[in-house]
Amino acid sequence: MKTIGLIGGMSWESTVTYYQIINQTIKRTLGGLHSAKCLLYSVDFFEIEECQSKGDWAKSAEILSDAAQRLEKAGADFIVICTNTMHKVANTIQSAVSIPILHIAEVTARQLKANDISKVALLGTKYTMEQDFYRSKLTQNGITVVVPDENDRELINSVIYNELCLGVIQEASRQKFLSIMNGLADQGAQGAILGCTEIGLLVGQKDTDVPLFDTTLIHAESAALYSIA
Ligand code: GLU
Repeated sequence: MKTIGLIGGMSWESTVTYYQIINQTIKRTLGGLHSAKCLLYSVDFFEIEECQSKGDWAKSAEILSDAAQRLEKAGADFIVICTNTMHKVANTIQSAVSIPILHIAEVTARQLKANDISKVALLGTKYTMEQDFYRSKLTQNGITVVVPDENDRELINSVIYNELCLGVIQEASRQKFLSIMNGLADQGAQGAILGCTEIGLLVGQKDTDVPLFDTTLIHAESAALYSIA
């Protein structure tokens, strides 16, 4: 079994889910008392968010590269960055270590293709929805990406940082997310990517008929299966 190196804490609210899903997947697959071999380096999200809002991606890349190197030294066989947004600096982190990174958008694209999805809605932080580092991984796989309009992007981004990353779950926000996803489905999206690792804490498949692709579940399950492949 390979050892998974998790870079977590972005936010820790969703890193908890990673740990659960990884172990549940190993248990379901191998049975009995089996559990995942993994290491977690959990950052201080305050420092990361400060870099994001200042646009200092180089500094955030430095912090996360250091985390990846520590995980490699400690014996990790591959790296899982437990956030969509910080994959913006995945290439820099990759160049700091000699073990591979399991990219969240690549495993999500694989899942979309397996489900014959060619047009999908993307919900996430404003960085993930608006910039190319994430969307390009999907479009390179022939998937058309639609994002909410500017007001809705602002709302989603604010709920992520001011509620979900702080562990605050509000019904009013759930209803807003659902209505945004329904609107995008009406525009032809065949499903919606929960492209922020905390969104699954707010909405789940039980809340909507729009097929959901929860990146936390997909990434964590892929990591577990890769560790025993
Ligand atoms: N966890 C979130 C994501 O998946 C947002 C927090 C962050 O900025 O890393 O993008």
